[in-house]
Amino acid sequence: MSTPHDAAPLHEAQRRRSFAVISHPDAGKSTLTEALALHARVISEAGSVHGKGGRQGVVSDWMSMEQARGISITSAALQFEYRDCVINLLDTPGHADFSEDTYRVLSAVDSAVMLLDAAKGLEPQTLKLFDVCRHRGIPVLTFINKWDRPGREALELCDELVERIDLQPMPLTWPVGSPGHFQGVLDVPTGQFVRYARTAGGAKAAPEENLSPDEAEAEVGEDWTTAREEYDLLLESGGEFDEERFRDATATPVLFGAAVLNFGVRHLLDLVVDLAPRPVPREDADGAPRPLDGEFSAFVFKVQTGMDPAHRDQVAFARVCSGVFERGMVVTNATTKRPFATKYVQQVFGQKRSTVDTAYPGDVIGLVNATALRVGDTLYSGKPAVRFPGLPQFAPAHFAVATPSDLSKAKQFRKGIDQLGAEGVVQLLTSDLRGEGAPVLAAVGPMQFEVATHRMEHEFNAPVKLDRLPYSAVRKLGDSSQRSIVDAGRRSEVLDRADGTELAVFEDEMSLRILLRANPELELEPLLAEG
Ligand code: GDP
Repeated sequence: MSTPHDAAPLHEAQRRRSFAVISHPDAGKSTLTEALALHARVISEAGSVHGKGGRQGVVSDWMSMEQARGISITSAALQFEYRDCVINLLDTPGHADFSEDTYRVLSAVDSAVMLLDAAKGLEPQTLKLFDVCRHRGIPVLTFINKWDRPGREALELCDELVERIDLQPMPLTWPVGSPGHFQGVLDVPTGQFVRYARTAGGAKAAPEENLSPDEAEAEVGEDWTTAREEYDLLLESGGEFDEERFRDATATPVLFGAAVLNFGVRHLLDLVVDLAPRPVPREDADGAPRPLDGEFSAFVFKVQTGMDPAHRDQVAFARVCSGVFERGMVVTNATTKRPFATKYVQQVFGQKRSTVDTAYPGDVIGLVNATALRVGDTLYSGKPAVRFPGLPQFAPAHFAVATPSDLSKAKQFRKGIDQLGAEGVVQLLTSDLRGEGAPVLAAVGPMQFEVATHRMEHEFNAPVKLDRLPYSAVRKLGDSSQRSIVDAGRRSEVLDRADGTELAVFEDEMSLRILLRANPELELEPLLAEG
């Protein structure tokens, strides 16, 4: 944004809204992203972000592996202006093999939009991501998508939120017309009927018509009355809008729509502007909030290598937490205490890159050729120094022993493995049973292993052999003196993570229970998404 650099960061921070969409694959995240961007007019034609259906898009093809699979495994941020706000929409890769990257993005946002498919409701990946939001206290807006198709009842979907994730729905719109016969919505704040009109292919912002309740009753009759009655039922069960409950993440505003037809998309954008939290001072590692208008500071939440196949570069994505970022400024990396020059800074989304000159709290900057930066690093300028807490590591579900395919490359192997561990591509574990020479790689999603194997071969010139371990259940060992109990189990062992956590891993929940039954004194703690 080309605002003069002396503009007050406080003012700029106030108009930032930084959020991510959390959803299960196929719920319509790409479609919604396109629709939001289209509505805000950053791209002229729906389809140019994602490029589905043969349209030339900016779908990321940074790695050949991605190309082969036709999916995106990278995260970045799309920035656009809407009303008087600057919206940063951070991408969470939604593939079924999603990895820790997806979770980490949530450390860089101030809110999330939970996108549900009206026919499916809460799905496994949505639940996992929602868990992380809840753990971090991130407020969630809910968009129930695909209302143009036959699906479940609105009341039933709302009940599901209460019953399965203890989240009170507070609808701000209510669908008029059953799923598949979507005519528009009851706009709760005004009580009016907002009627949608279809446009060819949904490529343009959907025209809306506002009708008073009387007009609505006269024109759509029963569907309107039903919508009113259903909404009233929800009100009785605590669905009245309460901003405080949204902010403390115990309740969620709910909208209904159809992203593919641009129905409900304007409502969502307005809601993001009106309601989504703006950046607040982030606490440093000692718990002291860093004032938004202090000196520049940011933290790295993602490092992506090989984004540009022509120059195997490395981009570190950082979220600005305070002050004004200006391209070219020299900042300090709090981990190494070394200066870092920021000449090459970009906004990256898909293949589209543009140079960033200035950024404010809430924005995401992509630091190109940032080989010295690691996930979790803090960057700052001036004094005093600041260091933000490290990013959480998540419970891995996949484990593999790594060995060099070519034993003469042991040195490159070690260097590469350590680098991947430091970047957070995989978690690096060691075990008493195997020793340092045979590190265990652990991942939330198996695709992390593919990225690791690819990079070991092509970047570090040290092809690796991965032998998968049969573990699928993991807990944190509560008491170090009990290591031997787990190590002695036939289907379990203890693996040490670089952050000092002792992970007790088991072939399955059954073998865990058997060991616990034989050793009731064993202290095991859950390890989902620890902070
Ligand atoms: P993603 O995997 O979450 O990014 O989902 P996509 O945006 O790729 O959408 C998955 C499929 O659902 C595509 O075929 C979309 O055209 C379709 N889709 C998305 N939104 C809607 C909607 O509102 N209504 C209908 N009927 N289909 C939709």
